[in-house]
Amino acid sequence: MNANLFLALRQGFPQDLDSIAIETDQGLRYSWRDLDRASAMLANWLGSLDLPLGSRIAVQVDKSVEALMLYLATLRAGHVFLPLNSAYQSAELAYFIGDAEPAVVVCSPVNFGWVSKLAFQKGNRYVMTLDEQREGSLLQRAAHHSDQHTPALRRPDDLAAILYTSGTTGRSKGAMLSHANLHSSAQCLHQYWGFAASDVLLHALPIFHVHGLFVAIHAALFSGCSMLWHGKFEPQRVLADLSRATVFMGVPTFYTRLLALTGLNTQACAGMRLFISGSAPMLVDTFTQWQQRTGHTVLERYGMSETLMLTSNPYLDDERFGDPVIARSEATKQAPAKRVGGSVGFPLPGVSLRIADAQNREVPEGEVGSIQVKGANVFAGYWRMPEKTAQEFTSDGFFITGDMGTLDAQGYVRIVGRSKDLIISGGLNVYPVEIEDALNNLPGVLESAVVGVPHPDFGEVGCAFVLAKDGATLDPTALLQALKTQLANFKVPKQCRVIDALPRNAMGKVQKNLLRDMV
Ligand code: AMP
Repeated sequence: MNANLFLALRQGFPQDLDSIAIETDQGLRYSWRDLDRASAMLANWLGSLDLPLGSRIAVQVDKSVEALMLYLATLRAGHVFLPLNSAYQSAELAYFIGDAEPAVVVCSPVNFGWVSKLAFQKGNRYVMTLDEQREGSLLQRAAHHSDQHTPALRRPDDLAAILYTSGTTGRSKGAMLSHANLHSSAQCLHQYWGFAASDVLLHALPIFHVHGLFVAIHAALFSGCSMLWHGKFEPQRVLADLSRATVFMGVPTFYTRLLALTGLNTQACAGMRLFISGSAPMLVDTFTQWQQRTGHTVLERYGMSETLMLTSNPYLDDERFGDPVIARSEATKQAPAKRVGGSVGFPLPGVSLRIADAQNREVPEGEVGSIQVKGANVFAGYWRMPEKTAQEFTSDGFFITGDMGTLDAQGYVRIVGRSKDLIISGGLNVYPVEIEDALNNLPGVLESAVVGVPHPDFGEVGCAFVLAKDGATLDPTALLQALKTQLANFKVPKQCRVIDALPRNAMGKVQKNLLRDMV
């Protein structure tokens, strides 16, 4: 049997191929037939290059529907899609091209000069261009090819994509994802979150990352539901389109920016069935404010490039805080439970998750440990890094996520931080999230981040960075004093700085390495 993921996605397309699959914020409309035909033409163009199956197709372009078609074409042609953050500069791109040795590089026309020079130096023969206005050499080449294409034969374990980890620390590693990894995750989310052809997904995420590309796009294609496609996240535009959508996926920053708009209210979200958040922790304050303002309870989920989605709060929320309760329990096979702020929910069906100590033994309920996972969704390893890959798996086959967390009596998972962010002060473990939560609850504090910095006596101590709420003035000494009344002294940071903004990467994750550099 052909395990090519494209076939599974194609099966989700509706009967009526002329119905609208995607409507963009530029007013363009694409039918399902357009997706099918254009991806066939692009796949035929790739086929005409006579590349060995499994060649890497590196793509660093601005978000467009054509870039999505190129992804589908890469699957169809049996190659490996390698999306790159459009913010990467030449030194970063040189590393990715050198490491992944792509057969084809597709870049924005404005970057063609430096990208092609770099790619040609590395022996690359095919450097194509594509911009968000459908201009560039890629589509011109594809235009001469047939719009009929039979997907290449792929086995379940053959690679479909490589995602370079966003790398807030250390060198970026290429997570190798197989057709079976992506298929199992898409199928699971489609069912768990109750996706149906009648849904309309508002898509405002970048598509070079697991969230926008695999979680959002796969959920839509697999279900044959249409998408409202925003090139960039612009809060006002998203707010305006909520009335036409049923599902929205975002990083927590999207939610805080939307909350800043006065027009965000129950009426604006009346037709919505589901708001999903992930990629970074959502503050409980944001979660609660969202409930109060919109009547909807955000569903927070957790996953990563290497594993796709791992946990999710329940789709069926027994509190039903205004959520339209949709009778899809049969499809989702879930008992109603509560969506809990500050928790990333339960392990998804098919995912084994344990919280383990340094010897990889499960820790007692409620205790902090390393989050380890197993399942059909877990990646095949890091590209050309067998030793690194081996280090990240336990002898009984669990992947060590690098996240620290807890599991409570009801089975809810909570993330307390990355293991690398753990602060060991005088031999005692300090989890930044605990300190950040305490800081965030102090009057006038909007948000905070705590990092470990070297200390001659304790080895490491915490340094807190805090942001003030609008109109509030913060006194760092008073904040530390207030923490001392709530936390054991060894946990209280030794320094506190008030800053204007936390450095974040494209997915809204706080870049703690940059904060450490500031100290
Ligand atoms: P990436 O591979 O770029 O998607 O990054 C994955 C990492 O993002 C995970 O290992 C977590 O540290 C973090 N992450 C993803 N979702 C969440 C979430 N809902 N809450 C907290 N951290 C998250």
